[in-house]
Amino acid sequence: MKFEINTEGKGLFLTMATISLILIMAVTTVLWWFISPRLHEINGIFAQIALNGLRGFYLIVITGIVLVLMTCYLERNFLISKFAVRLSINFIFPISIFWGRFVGISKDRIRESFVHVNNAFVNTINSMFKPSEVLILLPHCLQNNNCEIRITNNYMNCKNCGKCDIGDLKNIAIEYKVHLAIATGGTLARRIIVKIRPKFIIAVACQRDLVDGIQDVFPIPVYGVLNERPEGPCVNTRVNSKKIKIALDTVLVNNLNKES
Ligand code: SF4
Repeated sequence: MKFEINTEGKGLFLTMATISLILIMAVTTVLWWFISPRLHEINGIFAQIALNGLRGFYLIVITGIVLVLMTCYLERNFLISKFAVRLSINFIFPISIFWGRFVGISKDRIRESFVHVNNAFVNTINSMFKPSEVLILLPHCLQNNNCEIRITNNYMNCKNCGKCDIGDLKNIAIEYKVHLAIATGGTLARRIIVKIRPKFIIAVACQRDLVDGIQDVFPIPVYGVLNERPEGPCVNTRVNSKKIKIALDTVLVNNLNKES
């Protein structure tokens, strides 16, 4: 599949990922330099085993970053691209966040770039999905702050008054016959996912929630769409519904099909 949106901006995370892995290799080399004389004193075989372990580690690290870069830039479905995703989520991302703060790169910039990298990974998936397998997951802050209608239990309660984007998104969910859910937080989002068991998620959220969500639901692929926050975080946020339609047109079997 090939999305037309939201894969720009992956360069920051990929640069930081490469630097992170070089840093790890530098740190482990220095550690080796300190401990190897002692290991040799104890037993030469220990030293040889440790050295081989270190070489194996370097091999995994170098293979990992090459895979991540190839997966992101060539956007082909490499057999082991899941390994690249796992490596990025669990290993490279926290390290990048850690050292990024010392050079003044904000967490949100790194998170945003990570979302673009994640979307590039999603681009490598060859499968298409039935509407019943796709979930659009929205944050509650998209609802107009003054709207008193309860939409978290049932988005169909929305009256399409036009004061927020929920009405348009409701129409899209009806048109494409996909699931749509509105979550007030991570716990409810997890509950919704357990209940619906989607095979593909289009999630709208801020940088932090998107990254948390992508990490939580792995290996379910999540296409992340960052919301807009014209009035600041968590209130009256917006999303361009065209982005959701583009994603659905790309991901659904028979474009625009309506599952009967
Ligand atoms: S579009 Fe729906 S959710 Fe948004 S303010 Fe109107 S009725 Fe409420």
